[in-house]
Amino acid sequence: MDHGLWTKTKDMRKKIVAGNWKMNMDYEEGLSLFSEVLNMAHDEVTGKQHIVVCSPFIHLHSLVQMAKGNTKVSVGAQNAHQAESGAFTGETSAKMIRSTGAEYVILGHSERRQYFGETNELLAKKVYTALKHSLKPIFCIGETLQERESNVHFDVIKSQLAEGLYHLDAGHFGQVVIAYEPVWAIGTGVTATSAQAQEIHAFIRKEIAAKYGQEVADHTSILYGGSANPKNAPELFAQPDIDGGLIGGASLKSRDFTDIAKVFN
Ligand code: PEP
Repeated sequence: MDHGLWTKTKDMRKKIVAGNWKMNMDYEEGLSLFSEVLNMAHDEVTGKQHIVVCSPFIHLHSLVQMAKGNTKVSVGAQNAHQAESGAFTGETSAKMIRSTGAEYVILGHSERRQYFGETNELLAKKVYTALKHSLKPIFCIGETLQERESNVHFDVIKSQLAEGLYHLDAGHFGQVVIAYEPVWAIGTGVTATSAQAQEIHAFIRKEIAAKYGQEVADHTSILYGGSANPKNAPELFAQPDIDGGLIGGASLKSRDFTDIAKVFN
């Protein structure tokens, strides 16, 4: 293997460590956690990696204000509705999210797919609306344990990509960050091995290259998610096709989250 070329293609891509707070943190708790993350990132994060904190909606505007002028840390939401506006009680639109200054939105998280019945078809609409309002989707894909055990995981990933994203032209696709999150590894303490994760990440990149061409594929950041922590992150992030992580549990602890981001220092 040409190690030089390897490093070069990996360098083309933005390295991202994104936190998913899920439905945790009341207003004050969220502000105080974010303030710790900002301070630690300022003092300790020295590379070109980017940190994204995806909070509940209630925090978005305040976090964006706190991060103003900070080039290392951005803010994102965890969901957005597919419609522009209207009679959808309790929902939040992409335009509303963008108006807070948030830049990213997680779409297609397995918890949304599982508990809220979000399908690839619905997610394709959400992705379209998010991009229309200049939000960068962090699009989650990944197989269940049953799908892996039945050896259909590659097919599952392939259709999640195709049905969720392939309506986009290459320009819009270039705004999307992919997160590979095997469902069996989320919140379970069971992490995919670095070899298992790399195998799927390489497959995802190959699929993207087949659809959009090698250059687009080489510039797409593909994050790993599923029980990542400061101990296992170095080996995962060292893989040639892993460009960072989507971090659940460990993003609720500023020390752990920063240590994960520091892997790219
Ligand atoms: C997630 O929810 O996106 C996630 C990866 O969770 P955890 O890190 O807790 O497994």
